[in-house]
Amino acid sequence: MSDLLIQKIDVIATLDDDASELHGYDILMQGSMIKTIGRNIPPPPGAKIIDGRGKVALPGFVNTHHHMYQIYTRDLPRTANALDIFDWLKVNYDIWHEIDPELVYVSALVGLGLLLKTGCTLVSDLFYVFPDTADKKLIDAEIQAAKDLGVRFHPCRGAMSLDQSQGGIPPHNVTETDEDILLDYERLVNTYHDPSPYSMLRIALAPCSPFSVTSNLMRKTIKYAREHSLQCHTHLAEAHLEDVWCAEMFGMRPFEYMESLDWVGPDVWYAHSIYVNEKEIHRMGEYKCGVASCPVCNARAGHGIAPILEMRKQGVRVGFGVDGAGGYGDMIAEIQTALVLHRLASKDMKPLTNEMLRIGSRGGAQVLGWEELGSLEPGKAADLSLIDTHQLDYAGCIHDPVASIVLYGANHIVDTTIVNGKVVVEKGRLVQVNEEEVIDRANRLSKEFITRAAKSTGMDYSLVPLRQTE
Ligand SMILES: [Zn+2]
Repeated sequence: MSDLLIQKIDVIATLDDDASELHGYDILMQGSMIKTIGRNIPPPPGAKIIDGRGKVALPGFVNTHHHMYQIYTRDLPRTANALDIFDWLKVNYDIWHEIDPELVYVSALVGLGLLLKTGCTLVSDLFYVFPDTADKKLIDAEIQAAKDLGVRFHPCRGAMSLDQSQGGIPPHNVTETDEDILLDYERLVNTYHDPSPYSMLRIALAPCSPFSVTSNLMRKTIKYAREHSLQCHTHLAEAHLEDVWCAEMFGMRPFEYMESLDWVGPDVWYAHSIYVNEKEIHRMGEYKCGVASCPVCNARAGHGIAPILEMRKQGVRVGFGVDGAGGYGDMIAEIQTALVLHRLASKDMKPLTNEMLRIGSRGGAQVLGWEELGSLEPGKAADLSLIDTHQLDYAGCIHDPVASIVLYGANHIVDTTIVNGKVVVEKGRLVQVNEEEVIDRANRLSKEFITRAAKSTGMDYSLVPLRQTE
């Protein structure tokens, strides 16, 4: 791997402990890490040189929650206008039953590609649909896509094992047995997991949600994860319906249920966590739990705004996630929306743009347990994005260009993304795959997928649910 020198960057938002901003500095990357940040660094022989003038450099963002396979169903009128979360899931489960490795592979090229283009360098995705009919190597297909694009990846081996006959929400044909799931954890960890610093791939374990997995699987998962130093992830306290369901099923609130399973600690992160009270937030902080907040998805679904500012005050680790069909898939849009929503919701804790950028980068890295990411400092991973501020979007914004990226910008596509010392987005385009081919392939697959599902269920997915047409 040759050295990479970015020269005379307009502004470097280091997001280090002092939130330093450096003007007119260079960044030298050697191998997997940032070697030096300074003025007029002499170019090492053979180094690739990038002109940083007119650009803002940010640490790579970290996406902490997603379901990339949902691209094919995200604009279906029947599900995009679902009545509530359980209605949305039940209609989707029947469609997702038709999933296969090619659908997963291409959706991952799309999801990971868009995240790279909006400045993400480490992505976590939670894939949890393993139909009884499908080839089970579906996480493997996502991993191949991440390698083909050159993005750092933290896939979660999701799972569902509590079917409707046991009181769960999913139908039997998209669930697996606890034993099969545990065996696949082992296969994936043995095949792919790389815990070393500057790793490109680590595996996390993620039984999907309280209403789709057994308590037995939750207990066995956390035990296996702790024996192998893995991170664990699940959905928690996303909707009021989940509160009601947990009260009926376990006689507990969702977070109390996690405590009862020992699913708390610095190796656990939850998605959403909107419905948590003050005492629970305090305990989450004491345990050092992590939260993947998904403001766009939560707002669109009408679920609410997660109390992340209070969580951070109490010691909870917080990052952002673009979350499947419910979000835009765009990390900068997620950060912008978070700022707007939290300014609207907060009484006396109006967040600053810098705090939102920090949650998007360093916060996410802490949530996933990748401490070598999230800030631009010597010794940190060679990951960053360069944003071209010489665009109409930012015209006149010469006083605080870093803040202007969170406050403005119709076009969130970065100029350059570098992962592990390698340029993977150049002039706003993916370097390692042909975007037009990916788009055409995704559209063709989407048509085939939904046609297949409609044939098997007899449903017309072009119709919006009844309540909204009355
Ligand atoms: Zn989710």
